[in-house]
Amino acid sequence: MSLVRNTTEFICKVCGKPVGFDISDAKSYISKTEHDNFFGMTLTTYRVAHDTDTERHYNSVVVDHMGLFRGHRDAYAEPLPTVDPSTDRRYWVYHEDEVSGEPTNGIELALLISRDQRWVVDIVCPSAMNASEITTLVVDRVEEAQRVYNTIPQPIETRLADLDFYIWASDNRILCVVLRNQALLSSLNSFASRIIVESEADFIPRRRLLNLVFNVIEREPDLSTSMLSRLMNEDMLFTKFQTPFEDRIPSIVERTSTRFPIAKEILGPLLRGYITLIEALETVGYAHIQEVFDMIDFINRRRVLG
Ligand SMILES: [Zn+2]
Repeated sequence: MSLVRNTTEFICKVCGKPVGFDISDAKSYISKTEHDNFFGMTLTTYRVAHDTDTERHYNSVVVDHMGLFRGHRDAYAEPLPTVDPSTDRRYWVYHEDEVSGEPTNGIELALLISRDQRWVVDIVCPSAMNASEITTLVVDRVEEAQRVYNTIPQPIETRLADLDFYIWASDNRILCVVLRNQALLSSLNSFASRIIVESEADFIPRRRLLNLVFNVIEREPDLSTSMLSRLMNEDMLFTKFQTPFEDRIPSIVERTSTRFPIAKEILGPLLRGYITLIEALETVGYAHIQEVFDMIDFINRRRVLG
């Protein structure tokens, strides 16, 4: 089809440089995941890499059937194998341009650590604390526990400096948390195992997403763990949709809102590509997450769009 673009372009989330790849040339990307029809669009997630002098930058991007970039899923950097391995002892903090994770009423500190890729996502981390150093200490504690126990307790409870840590660990990932409100421990405990399991193609969950998940755990402890898992693994959260059926949007919003009142508030901006799904969730509040996803499923299942 001549409508398909040859080059899909986007801005690398790590270095801000333009990156291009060709959806019809499998050599120009690392992997792709196709999605079911979503809001009337056929979307695919591609994982694309480019190299600088010292690093390889990975971006996961959502692209439509025309090859047009629709949004980022994640991005991260890895040192190139040519770089002196002695500099690789450090854990690097995965920086994002979005708001930093300041402590909440319930959570003082929360870090997600990759043991093999050596990154840290500072989900909640006061600016007075050093995420990279804490990570080194926490990984040491996990290794110590692995020597002491045949099967380590989940969570490991330990004290570092003057802080009481809860640590959950898998072979690849570690989640460590310092709580202000101990009542959060049980809901955290039931979800922690899902955070430390790598879901697919070792995506780094974005800080903003994990922040959202932690806020939900704190404020809506009764939300099902399956809904939390869905949040963690939803490719479309950072995608701009912009449906091709713009003139039908008012009637679609009207009809959908008789069943899902939340549609009145967010569906129009979502379908016009003014806001992303994660912005919609942050707008409507954590109590409405289930309703938002039910609405999306309804639209997709009924093929309301297209
Ligand atoms: Zn880059």
